[in-house]
Amino acid sequence: KSGFVAIIGRPNVGKSTLMNQVIGQKIAIMSDKPQTTRNKIHGVYTTNDSQIVFLDTPGIHKPQSKLGEHMMKIAESSLSEVDAVLFLIDVVEGLGGGDRFIIENLKKVKTPVILVMNKIDQVQPEAILPVITAYKDLYNFAEIVPISAIKGNNVNTLLEQVTKYL
Ligand code: GDP
Ligand code: MG
Repeated sequence: KSGFVAIIGRPNVGKSTLMNQVIGQKIAIMSDKPQTTRNKIHGVYTTNDSQIVFLDTPGIHKPQSKLGEHMMKIAESSLSEVDAVLFLIDVVEGLGGGDRFIIENLKKVKTPVILVMNKIDQVQPEAILPVITAYKDLYNFAEIVPISAIKGNNVNTLLEQVTKYL
């Protein structure tokens, strides 16, 4: 099986960290400052029976400028061309305006969206369920997978789930 997967989410939710955890090398620029990843960076994950090309898509967030709007359009069209979308969220911060904006835009594409709840290393297990409920109310996600991108927790499960949509 092989296919293309876009990683989207607000700045600082852990998109680059996840890419690096999956690909196993530092190919995306990481920073605490938002928007240091300027371009779509392709990482290829290969196993004996599958190949997944990851796109680290920085443009999906509430536009602050004309340039932002332009980037949003590029990001939206790239979402229609992939086999699955990984929508990363930060479980510590939970649902806010930025994520609501992204979800509204996800409704414009038919691609299956996997909700990836990142940074579970930062919260108590019982804090995760209310966050899941809040997001589920807004969108019919194909899968919901809690992970810690930085520690690698549950990332293998995520890859298994992704493979189903290739
Ligand atoms: P991006 O803007 O979405 O690409 O986010 P980054 O990958 O650059 O991560 C933003 C910040 O969150 C960095 O300081 C990361 O070290 C941190 N981070 C990413 N994933 C995790 C995680 O699973 N747990 C914790 N505790 N921090 C994380
Ligand atoms: Mg990044």
